[in-house]
Amino acid sequence: MDPQAILNQAVVSLNGIGGQTVSRLEKLDIRQVGDLIFHLPLRYEDRTRVQSINQLQPDCTALICARVISTEILNRGRRMLICQVSDETGYLSLRFFHFSAKQANSLSSGTLISCFGEIKDGYSGYEMIHPEYKVIRQLDDCITSDTLTAIYPLTEGLRQASIRKAVQQALRLYNDNPDSLPDLLPTSLLSRFQYPGLNAALNTLHTPAPGVSENTLLNSQNPALKRLAFEEFIAHQLSQKQSKSLDKHWQAPVLKSTQPQVQQFLKSLGFSLTHAQQRVIEEIKADCASNSPMSRLIQGDVGSGKTVVSAYAALLALSSQQQVAIMAPTELLAEQHLSNFSLWFNSFNTKIIFLTGQLKGKKRQQALEAIADGSVGIIIGTHALFQDAVTFARLGLVVIDEQHRFGVNQRMALRDKGQQKNSKPHQLIMTATPIPRTLAMLNYADLDISIIDELPPGRIPVVTRAISSERRSEVIAKINNWVQQGRQTYWVCTLIEESEVLQCEAAEKTAAQLAEILPNVRIGLVHGRMKSADKDQVMQAFKQHKLDLLVATTVIEVGVDVPNAGLMIIENPERLGLSQLHQLRGRVGRGSDDSFCLLMYQSPLSKTAGERLNILRETSDGFIIAEKDLELRGPGEMMGTRQTGQMQFKIADLERDTDLLDQVTEAVNIIQQQYPKNIQPLIKRWLGTTTKYAEV
Ligand code: ADP
Ligand code: MG
Repeated sequence: MDPQAILNQAVVSLNGIGGQTVSRLEKLDIRQVGDLIFHLPLRYEDRTRVQSINQLQPDCTALICARVISTEILNRGRRMLICQVSDETGYLSLRFFHFSAKQANSLSSGTLISCFGEIKDGYSGYEMIHPEYKVIRQLDDCITSDTLTAIYPLTEGLRQASIRKAVQQALRLYNDNPDSLPDLLPTSLLSRFQYPGLNAALNTLHTPAPGVSENTLLNSQNPALKRLAFEEFIAHQLSQKQSKSLDKHWQAPVLKSTQPQVQQFLKSLGFSLTHAQQRVIEEIKADCASNSPMSRLIQGDVGSGKTVVSAYAALLALSSQQQVAIMAPTELLAEQHLSNFSLWFNSFNTKIIFLTGQLKGKKRQQALEAIADGSVGIIIGTHALFQDAVTFARLGLVVIDEQHRFGVNQRMALRDKGQQKNSKPHQLIMTATPIPRTLAMLNYADLDISIIDELPPGRIPVVTRAISSERRSEVIAKINNWVQQGRQTYWVCTLIEESEVLQCEAAEKTAAQLAEILPNVRIGLVHGRMKSADKDQVMQAFKQHKLDLLVATTVIEVGVDVPNAGLMIIENPERLGLSQLHQLRGRVGRGSDDSFCLLMYQSPLSKTAGERLNILRETSDGFIIAEKDLELRGPGEMMGTRQTGQMQFKIADLERDTDLLDQVTEAVNIIQQQYPKNIQPLIKRWLGTTTKYAEV
């Protein structure tokens, strides 16, 4: 058999792995034998030695050997079996809530047992709750293992013993056939960075040698773990670089405009472009003037004026008789673009179409036809743009707004739609979430990056204050005043991101409370569990000033321009990342009047939390805030769940392994230059079949 095929076998080929286990493993993304090898332990248990009771530490696991002193069934609100045991050094209780009569009998006084479990500090001294135990005849029967016992991540219904057995079999197959999993990092590279070989690293992690301590293994500097993370990062960066170089094989329409057209466009704006906008436009012009597709990411703070830059790109396309598709993550944002583009291209003889999921029946049919026959130049919409029914006559430019709301595959799918023979459209991607350079290297290596680091003139910075929630009633009084003056307000409820349900409930409750206290204020509510049509309706009403106060969850983070809303209250800001707070705050300060952001924290505020909020008070530069956020919280958290969603790593952890990133770039260059044969296998190993766009 081809050695590589050994690990490509389905897991069902292993002993003791059948139907149900197969589907449970699948939930962990484990399908082939080789996948088991990369399923690393979460932690380890030490069953290599018997510990004496007087040396036990609470919250640690331990193997002990002891004799039963007494066993009784108690009924203290809940029936339980309590078993007192002792070795020569001390006493310990074992507590069981689920037990059979047979079990109770087997633990009669004088019985010798070996027992493994976690030590808890109970009412009457140390105890183990539901330990694993075995009745033994003599002390020598107390079996210890040679290595630390690996504890693997599980999924519901999957037993630790089953997965451990499966991993052990997989590992044996691999060790017997080392060629089945070749080391894709050249030895020279490994020795340069002092990493172990693949086989050594994997064996260390699954079956640590006797004497290796658990702490060493779980230490974030463990070279075995680092090596695997290193390889994974390398594979990701290679894959991105590859899709960038694959772009070079494609043609793209040359997009150019004439001087009169440019003048006409600039005149319609009603403002002059900032230096930063002009600089980025020059970069785009250079890209579009070449016949290979542009892939450019524009990063610019909220309100920095990215839209008009994308409109300039649209002008280039329209002047060259090409269509432009602009995709936004919400209907409301798409509508905002529609109104801007309609204004800016009003004097051009160009048809603009709005395509969202809402568009139905005959109107939709007509829209689709106009897109397909080329009679419409600008197509603005939501996800609806990459539905199967949409075909473009000649798509020359794709603009994707608020990129972090879309996955890589979505943005590629839209571009594929514009594919004509050997040509692809140019692509412009916009995001308000600043991405520190190190992270961009890993996640956006396939894109060129432009930065708009200047706000349009005349913006008055948002006055930001931190205020204790004990002063809630003062804050509410301020809202009342504010609304009396005809201005509008946001109230943002936050909770830990994991629980959207709770977050929505909190918003509902707050809206109800505020309605009671402020009977004369028109209050609206938006949260993530509402249908998007309903959400848009409320946002629309707020925009049209039919509402004075909008209570919202963090769903309003992306988007809307309501210049009259100049006051924002953010509840529990200490729970959010700085970048996210900054994004939220970007909703206000869009008009020319004073605006305020009140960060209403729960006191007492910890020292670090206070420092973090201070950063927001001191600066309104999204890039500085992002760097600080990275420093204070690490990349994993900073990027938020939505963004890390695009960066799914099996083993690497952006937070733990940030220090690797410089090495990774160096290694990637070496591999590209000296070991190009390893590129495909590396990408395949770590990105598998999930990234269709990474493959040739
Ligand atoms: P974002 O970068 O957050 O998408 P927008 O493109 O929505 O920002 O721009 C925010 C506001 O600033 C819009 O009302 C836009 O018309 C306006 N704007 C953009 N560029 C300029 C400029 N150079 N001078 C004045 N106003 C501008
Ligand atoms: Mg925008």
